Order: sequence, then C-alpha cells, then structure tokens
Amino acid sequence: MQLDAKIPGGQLAEKWDRYRFELKLVNPANKRKFEVIVVGSGLAGGSASASLAELGYNVKTFCIQDSPRRAHSIAAQGGINAAKNYTNEGDSIWRLFYDTIKGGDFRAREANVYRLAQVSNNIIDQCVAQGVPFARDYGGLLANRSFGGAQVQRTFYARGQTGQQLLLGAYSALMRQVGTGKVKMFSRREMLDVVVINGQARGIVTRNLITGEIETHSGDAVVLCTGGYGNVYFLSTNAMASNVTAAFRAYKKGAYFANPCFTQIHPTCIPVHGDYQSKLTLMSESLRNDGRVWVPKNQGDKRRPHQILESERDYYLENKYPSFGNLVPRDVASRNAKEQCDMGKGVSETGLAVYLDFEDAIKRDGKDAIEKKYGNLFQMYEKITAENPYETPMMIYPAIHYAMGGLWVDYNLMSTIDGLFVLGEANFSDHGANRLGASALMQGLADGYFVLPYTIGGYLAGTPLEEVTTGHSAFKESVTSVNNHVEKLLSIKGKRTVDDFHKQLGHIMWDYCGMARNNERMKKAKGMIQQLRAEFWENVLIPGSGKDFNQSLERAGHVADFLEFGELLLIDALSRQESCGGHFNEAYQTEENEALRDDENFCHVSAWEFAGKDKEPVLNKEELKFENVELTQRSYK
Ligand SMILES: Cc1cc2nc3c(=O)[nH]c(=O)nc-3n(C[C@H](O)[C@H](O)[C@H](O)COP(=O)(O)OP(=O)(O)OC[C@H]3O[C@@H](n4cnc5c(N)ncnc54)[C@H](O)[C@@H]3O)c2cc1C
Repeated sequence: MQLDAKIPGGQLAEKWDRYRFELKLVNPANKRKFEVIVVGSGLAGGSASASLAELGYNVKTFCIQDSPRRAHSIAAQGGINAAKNYTNEGDSIWRLFYDTIKGGDFRAREANVYRLAQVSNNIIDQCVAQGVPFARDYGGLLANRSFGGAQVQRTFYARGQTGQQLLLGAYSALMRQVGTGKVKMFSRREMLDVVVINGQARGIVTRNLITGEIETHSGDAVVLCTGGYGNVYFLSTNAMASNVTAAFRAYKKGAYFANPCFTQIHPTCIPVHGDYQSKLTLMSESLRNDGRVWVPKNQGDKRRPHQILESERDYYLENKYPSFGNLVPRDVASRNAKEQCDMGKGVSETGLAVYLDFEDAIKRDGKDAIEKKYGNLFQMYEKITAENPYETPMMIYPAIHYAMGGLWVDYNLMSTIDGLFVLGEANFSDHGANRLGASALMQGLADGYFVLPYTIGGYLAGTPLEEVTTGHSAFKESVTSVNNHVEKLLSIKGKRTVDDFHKQLGHIMWDYCGMARNNERMKKAKGMIQQLRAEFWENVLIPGSGKDFNQSLERAGHVADFLEFGELLLIDALSRQESCGGHFNEAYQTEENEALRDDENFCHVSAWEFAGKDKEPVLNKEELKFENVELTQRSYK
C-alpha cells in the first residue's frame, strides 16, 4: 500500500498554521453530536480527553488503573523540553527541531518534528495556567536545565517528579470534564479489540478488570493513547502494567506497526541485582547535568571508588565527546557504557555498571543545591541500593526505557485505519531512531492538547459516518473472538507461570536484540521466540477464572501479545540493514564505533502490515524526505 503521510505543502515553518486553516471545522453546536473514545489516561490520553471535552465533544475515556492519575506517565522524572529560550542561550524553534531530527539519527519526519517544536511553548503556558509547579529561577522565571543531545538548557522540570506534576495538571483538566458530564471515565477496563466497520474504527471491546465482564462501546472515532511496549524486554523502567496489547490488536485489525525495532536503552538505570527482579529503576538523565560518569582506567579494578585516585579514573564521555561530555544522547551514552564494561572496566560485583559521581558538584554548589534539584532521586537510589549517593558515586547501567516505534500515523495522527488515531508513546512518533531526553512528555502533551483537537475535527467534519450501535454484527464478532481468546488462555492449565514465560522472552530480546545486534543472533532469536510461543500456548498456568479480578489472566494476555510482537520487532530489526540511533547492528559502524546509517537504502519508515496468523508481515515503506536539513553523520564531539 502506498503510505500517504498527508504532509501539507509550503514552507516548513508555515505548514501547521496553513494546515489548521485549511482543515474542515466542526461547528461548536455540532460537536456535541459526536462521541469519541479515548483509550488511555496518561499524559497523551488525559490531555486529549480534556481538550476534546472542552471543545464540546462527548468523550469516553478508558484506563487499566483504578485512577487516571496512576498512568505510567506519573513515573517521568527529569523534565519536559520547550523552545522558550528563557536562559538566553540562543534556543529557538529551529534549534529544538534540528536537535530532535539529529538526535533521532535522521529517521523522523521533518514536518512533524517542526510542529512539535512549535507547539512546545504552548504546552508550558498551558501547564503553568493549570498550576503545574515548575521550578523557578531567582527572578521568578521558570528554571531550565540541560538534557542529552542539546547544548542549550531548555528542559522545564519539577524536581525529579515532572511527570507526576504534569499528570496532575492533565488529570485536573480531565476531572473537570468528568464533573461537567462531557467525559465518562471507565477505569479498570482493558481494551482487547478495536471494532472496524466499513474500514472505520467505530468502537472497542473491553474487559472489566474487576468483574471480568466483556463490554462494548461504540463511537465516531477511537483514540489510542496506550503507551509504549518496552516491557517486551521484561526488565525495563516501564510500569508493570505497560503493554502492547491495545496497539497490537489494532495492528491485527489493519493498523500498520512502524519501526518496532527502534527501542530506547537509557544509560542511567540502577543495575540489575538479582534473578527475582521484575522491574528496573531509572535514575533520570537530568542527573548527568551534575554527575560525572567514569570507570577505573585499569581493567578489573575492584577497589571502592574513593580509593581510586583521580589520575586512575577514566571520564570516558568527557574525554571522547568534549563538546557534549556527560550529556551525549542516550544511545551514545549507553553504547559507551557497554563498551567500557565489555573491556572489563565495569564496576560492581557483576562488572555491569559505571559510576555517576556527584562529588565535584557537591564541592562546587553545596549539598543543599544538589538536594534541591535531585533530592527525591537520591532518596530513591538510597532506598533501593542502601548506598548514600551524596557520599558514594551512584552505580548505573543501561536498561530498556522507551519505544520510539509504535503504530504508524500520518500528519493528522491517524493510523492506517480511518478514524483510529494514535497519540503519545503508542504512535511511532516524532523521535526517529532515538528519542532525546525530555521529549516524550513534550510529544504526548503536544499530541493531546494541541494536535488532535484540530485534526480530529477535520476527520469528523469531512467523513460520512453511518449510524452505528453496539448491536452491529461487527461488535458481536469481536466479542466472540475476545471471549475465545480468554477461554483458550484459561483452558491450558499448564505448569509454567506467565511471568516465567515473560522473563524468558525478555532474556531473548535483551541478549539477542538489545544494545548491540547482529544478523545471526537475531535470526536465532526469531526461532527461539517461535518455540517459546508454542510452549506458552500448551503449558502456561493461569490460576482462577475469567469472571472476576484475575491479574494472572491480564498478564497472560499481555505476554501472549508480546510473544508475537517480539518476533515482529526482530523481523523489523533484521530488515533494517544499517545502524541508526538505538538500532545498532554491529556490521554497520564507523571506525569510531558509532552507528553507521545507510541513507541510500534505509531512509524510510518501515510500516508493517499484519498478513494473517503465522504469516510473515508485509513491509510498507514511507520514504523520508529531508528538504530543510542535511543528512550528516551524527557527531557529539
Ligand atoms: C521512569 C521513567 C521516567 C521518565 N522520565 C521522562 C522525562 O523526564 N521526560 C520525558 O519526556 N519522558 C520521560 N519518560 C517517558 C514518558 O514518561 C512516557 O513516554 C510518557 O509518559 C508516555 O505517556 P503516554 O500518555 O503515551 O502513555 P502512558 O502514561 O503509559 O499511559 C498509558 C495509558 O494507557 C492505558 N492503557 C494501556 N493499555 C490499555 C488497554 N489495553 N486498555 C485500556 N487502557 C490501556 C493505561 O492505563 C494508561 O492510562 C520517562 C519514562 C519512564 C519509564
């Protein structure tokens, strides 16, 4: 299929304004005639639901958690980018755009990224108006700090709890609309299918996670804001409930999945410390504003950090990348940490860690200043590791963190199913092959507050929609298929727990398609996943029934989808015979071990189409055109 991204014509800086003018409008009095289903209540879903309801649409919002406030977005720590240039360092919309395009290793759409940079400033104004308590400088302006891949300070933050504060803002806006009756909130519901009628998304099928009841909901459009798929790797910084189920079921109904192999590995996480661990904890990238990354110069040096003299330390990021130092982008910092550990210079008992040291910053600025900026992160680190990071350097190691890939969307954020929009981390987004820090919150809120509210109007105003109720046969078929799936899972009554399968899948993904990838190992992993999937469907043990609260059943549904999705990720990784951003195929690297792109053959988005059970998916390509920036080898030296 020819993919049409519907990028408007004209000059880059004018596209969005012109397009908004050209989009058809829904008259205010007519908006109340439309019903929009929003799945997910994180920053993307919360902001979209509130904005659509404020405009006058009737909205139904769904989430897995008991409250929209508990979406995974709450975990975001370090901050949100915007091109306000409050620091007077020469930031601009263009610079934010350029940094993001370059940071993503030239694998994102110019027009989308430019729009993102343009609306970044509106997001900050909106959040301040909602009362989000951003940190401020001595003069009262909002304070900024640095994040990776940028040489200006453009990240707005609320200590190490920025996601929580932004989510409380979006949640307040959402609850205001729940109060007015414009939003109906359905928490503890899991979407298990999207209902497509005449090629249009017209509803969803959900499971009530408390009663087990299968429910149906119709609407004029469906908006998926269901987050990222990092948990396909089992251990990740994502919340335990994060999953690919909604996106994957939409994929099976005709929505293309774009660039699934673009996964982000974050360089600063607390290292794995045992076999029974189910989650990894992030130490925000903001810490690299003040923390210095180092390893001992000598291999196998097991002395305590304080016993290692300054002259015996290798501040490898500062040495190798003098311009960006400790604030190189995540893919670069992660690969370098791995390289040091592979050379035998890693610290900790496992040798799979590097130091993040605040001694110099504390000497320079004082402990109070550091505590003000990162207090909660230091406390979290100490609680988990029993080491005091004010006195002893943190130990960190890369871990799976974010999904740049996701459902393919056009400039309107609409997928390949008409009327199915995808926002936030669930879409393949604006980040290309590597996301810069503090850009996910920006993108989720841009999508929800400032993009969808316009583009969905264009769709609803310009599309004939027949009257549809949940009595339609498509809903019945969908309910039957959901019920069959649930019953099949429960009937297996095998011997291995769901988590056991998930953990094994995660090991395969991390060991064979993690930070460094090669063709032979990825091919092997594909076979291993197929075998594991076959065993899952014969030997998984799910206690309890489908008629009540059953978290094993919920997780089994997620893992069943991850077992198929993991293979799709590998197929994508194998088909992209180049290195770019977080996708590092060892066969393609520069002399200095940086990712080596192949712009002639791979300057495209890979959008995968479901071809049927046990069939290879079909690859569709969206060629990326760079008319405003020059494609160069990324350098942070
Ligand atoms: C520890 C951590 C720190 C981070 N820090 C930062 C940061 O400082 N800056 C930054 O820019 N980014 C940060 N990120 C990334 C950022 O937090 C996420 O990308 C972003 O919050 C995702 O928002 P979202 O709205 O797309 O999805 P989420 O917040 O994940 O919300 C998903 C929603 O979908 C619902 N859902 C999922 N599946 C279903 C289903 N099948 N049915 C019904 N509902 C469903 C969930 O209940 C939830 O409401 C961080 C990420 C992590 C893990």
